[in-house]
Amino acid sequence: MFYFKDVIGQQSARARLIQEVQEGRVPHAQLFCGPAGTGKLPLALAYARYLCCAHPTGSDACGTCPSCVKWNKLMHPDVHFMFPIVRNAKAKKEVCDDYLAAWRRLLTTHAYFSLDDWLNEMDADNGQAIIYARESDEITRKLSLKAVEGGYKITVVWLPEKLHEVCANKLLKLLEEPPARTVFLLVSEAPDQILTTIQSRTQRFGVPRIAEADIAEALRTRYGVQQADSEAIAHMANGSFTQALQAISLNEENQLFFELFVGLMRQAYARKVRDMKQWSEQLAGMGRERQKHFLDYCQRMLRENFIYNLHCPEMNYMTRAEENFATRFAPFINVRNVAGIMHELEEAQRHIAQNVNPRMVFFDFALKMIVLLKA
Ligand SMILES: [Zn+2]
Repeated sequence: MFYFKDVIGQQSARARLIQEVQEGRVPHAQLFCGPAGTGKLPLALAYARYLCCAHPTGSDACGTCPSCVKWNKLMHPDVHFMFPIVRNAKAKKEVCDDYLAAWRRLLTTHAYFSLDDWLNEMDADNGQAIIYARESDEITRKLSLKAVEGGYKITVVWLPEKLHEVCANKLLKLLEEPPARTVFLLVSEAPDQILTTIQSRTQRFGVPRIAEADIAEALRTRYGVQQADSEAIAHMANGSFTQALQAISLNEENQLFFELFVGLMRQAYARKVRDMKQWSEQLAGMGRERQKHFLDYCQRMLRENFIYNLHCPEMNYMTRAEENFATRFAPFINVRNVAGIMHELEEAQRHIAQNVNPRMVFFDFALKMIVLLKA
């Protein structure tokens, strides 16, 4: 999490950032800008982690020094965040720190997110998110403290275009007379809406669109998307990984597979044999290639749900809907049955490839699930 290696594509941007650090040319304020979904925030975070690292290599942070260990949980005492929030007086959520748990949760599950995703995470769908005036006092106070790790003090400002005017002016003061060894990383999707005085105090770091091949590869390796789909989605995404992710979650086949998977698991749990018969008929009606894809999908879901129990969100790659289902389903997948279910799925796949009647293959698999889920 939050390494350069986690950034999708952007090889030259990564190289430029690493070079800055290695040549000791770290600007005290940088403005990461570029189209939405290109990974500006993941890049800024990887750069911040690299800056904090006690033993950085030529390509990434070391991963083991005290600073890196704190970064793993996004709990580094010298790294501060400012981001737009919707104030909720009732819930006593008034400053960014009050939303820090949600912020960390979103960053660790989906580093490529949009403002809408963030509003969802805050449960504030119909609010106007801004960085409030009070936030500038918070940051001034934090930066007045000595760096705990003895290195840089870093402030990441996500969407500085949402800064309240009072806050923007105080931030400008900090940029004009920055405390020693302080670095500001501003990540903007609309740099022209930022105060020109702030713009002129920062060094621009342009982040281009992600190469299509890099998006396609990430979709395959991180999200288990099929080759042909990954290329089609990457092409439509136009260099934005956020858009690619939206495409997979809307991907019709994926949606259908998800429903079929959930349907079967519910039926097997409730021993609804008649429904299972119907379920197998539905699958038998699909083409052979799609049947194989569905079995691939089941294997992926099984793996994801098994891993979900380890509570390491960085190891899980599910859509929102899949993740939601996993919160209830994952406890049923454990060391006693995971290998057995996997084996049955592989058998089914083999039989489908060998032209065995799919109605029988899927019904047989469904019945076995009744037993296996109870294990
Ligand atoms: Zn390190």
